[in-house]
This record gives sequence, structure tokens and C-alpha cells, in this order.
Amino acid sequence: MISPTVGDIVADLDALYPPATAEDWDVVGLTCGDRASQVRRVMFAVDPLPAVVDEALAWGADLLVTHHPLLLRPTHSVATDNWKGSLLHRLIRDGCALYTAHTNADVALDGVNDALAEALGLTDTKPLRVWPAEPADNLVTFVPPDHADAVIAALTRVGAGTIGNYAGCAWKVSGTGTFTPGEGANPVIGEVGRTEVTAEARVEMLVPRSLRSAALDAIRVAHPYEEVAIDIIELAAAASGTGLGRVGSLADPAPLAAFAQRVADALPSTPAGVRFHGDPETVVERVAVCGGSGASLLADAARVGVDVFVTADLRHHPASEALVAGGPALVDPGHWASEWPWLPVAAARLMQALARRDPSATTVETYISTVVTDPVTGHVRSRLEEDR
Ligand SMILES: [Zn+2]
Repeated sequence: MISPTVGDIVADLDALYPPATAEDWDVVGLTCGDRASQVRRVMFAVDPLPAVVDEALAWGADLLVTHHPLLLRPTHSVATDNWKGSLLHRLIRDGCALYTAHTNADVALDGVNDALAEALGLTDTKPLRVWPAEPADNLVTFVPPDHADAVIAALTRVGAGTIGNYAGCAWKVSGTGTFTPGEGANPVIGEVGRTEVTAEARVEMLVPRSLRSAALDAIRVAHPYEEVAIDIIELAAAASGTGLGRVGSLADPAPLAAFAQRVADALPSTPAGVRFHGDPETVVERVAVCGGSGASLLADAARVGVDVFVTADLRHHPASEALVAGGPALVDPGHWASEWPWLPVAAARLMQALARRDPSATTVETYISTVVTDPVTGHVRSRLEEDR
């Protein structure tokens, strides 16, 4: 039985979390590993830290998938002089590849934020800050009816006509074209100096703007006419189905303190616990979430009018000023805990993708790291407070 390769699994993960959707400053994808190596064991973790690599190698992982990148900043050496170089050497020596899906996993459907929203029991979720859809054109051309399918096929080959899970989407209608070939023309239909009236199909297809020139070339190659009429209609900007953070509703609204307890119970426990900001008695129903550091979305959470915003790494001034300005209550479960719910979801999605690729790929085992990599290792409260 042949196991999938690192390359196979990278292709499946890239399809789930397209690298092109990562932020410009981010680095995602394969950090180390041989794409030709076979993979039997895949471990998922939030942080590529030494304790996690200990766990991965002890379990015999062939691939470690982490949310955070190991080498976010430019690196000129992976010598063992520092812990990152040392960690890479250990991974390579033990034949364990390292792959990262970071901000591309945050925005993805069933990604980090959907997993967090699901863990907290939110319903009717949608993005907190909606991303615009990729700019697109509608291309229209006029072609003899018996060449229409060849033009549609040529456009489909360069990526035109893809709408969601549907490929080759096109529309055509029959009409009548008229033209008069001039001096020097070499018409496929008709002759120089005589006005021609002929049946034509009007063909329309949607094309991502980034593919415009490839699509125009494809039309010209597949089209029989010497001079090809093409309309390029730039479509108005539309909202995509994804974006940063998520907003949803609780089926059973609760006071803030009780909701924070619910968050603590739904996420893995950490020494830092879950903190909340706001009146403990205020009832929360509409909830925004952003796994990891979501302080940059404080204004978005206020704008959409949620009752509470769940995110991590909240700093004193932005948090207190947002509250004073009438923004939502805040719940901070910690960075690691807020991103952890994605791990089992990612493992399940990968197994589904592998099963579609090849049923024998179900021999692959997955494992979710149990190491708590939140940097906070404890907290204490004043003994005076306990005495009160
Ligand atoms: Zn993070």
C-alpha cells in the first residue's frame, strides 16, 4: 500500500487553505521536507516550538502542520547556533516535514475562525470584515455558431468560467452579425467590398481580471475570424464569502461572566485562564470572534454592533478605550487556546481530501498536539483578595 507523499498532502492543504489568501507579510507553505517522501503520520499543532517537535518526533510524525510559521522574518542561517536552526536540523534529520497554514487558514471556510465560532456555539456566522471578491471581467465575443464551443473550451482551459464549484460556465445566444470586408482584408466568410450578413453566437464568460490577457489570447487562437470583436466588461466589486474574523449569534444568550465561563469550558485549558472586560451581568447574544491577535478588528466589532468580541492579545489602551467608547464587551481566552479548535478540523478536512484522492490514503494517521504552548505558565491572585 503506497502512502501519499509530502507533495500530495501539501497540494491538499494548499487547496483547503490557498496560500494566495495569506496576508502579504505572512509566510506559509512548506518550510522543510522532501515532497517525494511518503507520509504515514501527520501531527497538527499551533506553534512550531521545541516541545512540539519533541512530541512530533516521539510519535514518529512524517509531517508537522502548524498554524504559526517558524521563519516569519528573513533568515540567513539555519545553523544550530539558535533554537530555530536546531529545530529544523532535528526535523530534517528525523525525516519530518514542516508545513504552515497561517493567515490563509484564518480566513478560509472551516478555518481558524469558523472553528472557533463553532466551538463557542455560534450560529449564522459570517465574516466580521468581509473581503472583496477577486476583481473579474465578463468577456463577450461574437463567433460563428459552429466555433462557439471551441472558444468556450479554450477559455475554460485558461481558467475562465469558474463560479464556485462549477467550471466552464458560459452563456451563448444566437444572433446575426454584419460586416463589410475592406481592401486588404482576408475574410473567412464573405468577400472584399460586399456587405455580409451571417449567423453568429454571442458568447459570454466570467474571467478573473488577473487572467484577462490569457483569456484574450485564448479567444484569438480559437476564433476563426481575422478580426475578432471582444467586449471586456469590468464587473462591479462584490463581497467575497470570506474575510477576517466571524460574527454569529448564541442560541441561548447569557450574562458576560457566564459566557466567559462557557468559552473557558469550550476551549483547551491554559494557566492564564479566560479574562473578560465589561459588566459581568450584561447579556450577550451577538458575538464576534477572531482567533489569535484580533485587536485590529476592535472597530469592526463595534461597527457591526455585537455584544461581545472574543479575541486574544488585547492591550491595555486599545481595550479600555474601546470599552469606554461604547464598544462590545471583550473576552480574551489567550492566543493559543483561541486558535487550537482549528487543529482537529484541519485534520478531519485533510483526511477527507486524502480519501477523495485515493481510498488507500486512509492509512494516514493524524494526531493533535497536546502540548500547551501558551507562553503564560501560571497566575496568582493577591492573598489579601482571598481573605476579603
Ligand atoms: Zn496566531
